[in-house]
Amino acid sequence: MTQYSGPGRAWVELDMDNLRHNVRVLQGRLPANCMLMPAVKANAYGHGAIEISKELNNCGIRAFCVASAAESVELRANGITGEILVLGYTYPDCFHLLDRYNLTQTVVDYNHAVALNKYGKKIKVHIAIDTGMRRLGERSENISNIVAMYKCKNLIITGVYTHCSVIDSRKQSDVQFTQEQIAKFYGVVNKLKALGHTPKIHIQSSYGIFNYPYLSCDYARVGIALFGMLSTREDTISYNTNLRPVLSVKTRVSAIKNVVAGEPVGYGMAYTATHDMKVAVLAIGYADGIPRGLSCGVGNVLINGHKAPVVGRVCMDQMMVDATHISGVGQGDIAVVLGKSGDKFITACEIAQQTGTISNEILSRLGRRLERHSNFSDLRHVSAV
Ligand SMILES: *Cc1c(COP(=O)(O)O)cnc(C)c1O
Repeated sequence: MTQYSGPGRAWVELDMDNLRHNVRVLQGRLPANCMLMPAVKANAYGHGAIEISKELNNCGIRAFCVASAAESVELRANGITGEILVLGYTYPDCFHLLDRYNLTQTVVDYNHAVALNKYGKKIKVHIAIDTGMRRLGERSENISNIVAMYKCKNLIITGVYTHCSVIDSRKQSDVQFTQEQIAKFYGVVNKLKALGHTPKIHIQSSYGIFNYPYLSCDYARVGIALFGMLSTREDTISYNTNLRPVLSVKTRVSAIKNVVAGEPVGYGMAYTATHDMKVAVLAIGYADGIPRGLSCGVGNVLINGHKAPVVGRVCMDQMMVDATHISGVGQGDIAVVLGKSGDKFITACEIAQQTGTISNEILSRLGRRLERHSNFSDLRHVSAV
């Protein structure tokens, strides 16, 4: 155990009240017999997989999904209980982790089923069905291969699922494609039922809970929405989700530098001071997950409730911002990179928009070097747009 050292350099604050709020909102949208199966892969989208999963266990969540066996082992080593589904491929050298840590493995295709069966010990699995994503899963047309998986003596098949590629879209042609994916999936499920098999089933990810809440499933694999937003700013506004962001990212002002008009600031001399200015140097950089694309005025941080634009290029461990207009700012003060300061707020969706990506990427790339601290409540009345 590392000793709590207090927020030193740069850190993440987690608002667990908001996490519990999101669980209630999302669970409330689903039929009573459909359970949330939170996706806590990629360190719970950068939030901290252990901290988030423990809190979810405490509020009654009994099933999780992650990307790899190694991510599951980390959860088990830290006391997380319930089902843990590995969504990704597991290589035979790692099969021992599956039974040792009581994990459930995705069967990514028929070959994988055969390999898993050969391992010799009983392994719990969910079969992935490819209904159109063309990523993992046995193609829904290959029903004989899917049925043959049930002949593998060492596979305990507890679930069957599919993943939809445009479930986030409300465009007519995309809705039609999604409905075809859903129909193909139920086609497989019904054939299995006719043979006497009754696996648990799941289809939806976050957007599925909003766009197709009525599907009759046992689980919904919820990721980004649990963390209080959708993937883009427009969606988070237009879906009117009533979700609340869970995470803030904060850092310390490590120095105040007086810069004279005409002097360049930072690597590549990419910025030249247009006026005499007060630059605040911050103890966070792209190695912590702050996109380098925020360089040179694209992004801002908040200091004492004021916006401070990024000056020059974001460095690996540090960045500089213009604090000329912010009175009283000094060494050791807190700067908010993501989250709330005074009446201002910077969201992951906003940073995603500024850097041409989605909130999922901004969050999931937040670095392990950031300490995670739980039970902050700055974000209580904040919505993620
Ligand atoms: C990551 C993932 C999810 C969760 O997706 P969100 O859109 O973040 O809710 C669901 N299913 C699979 C297969 C995934 O890989």
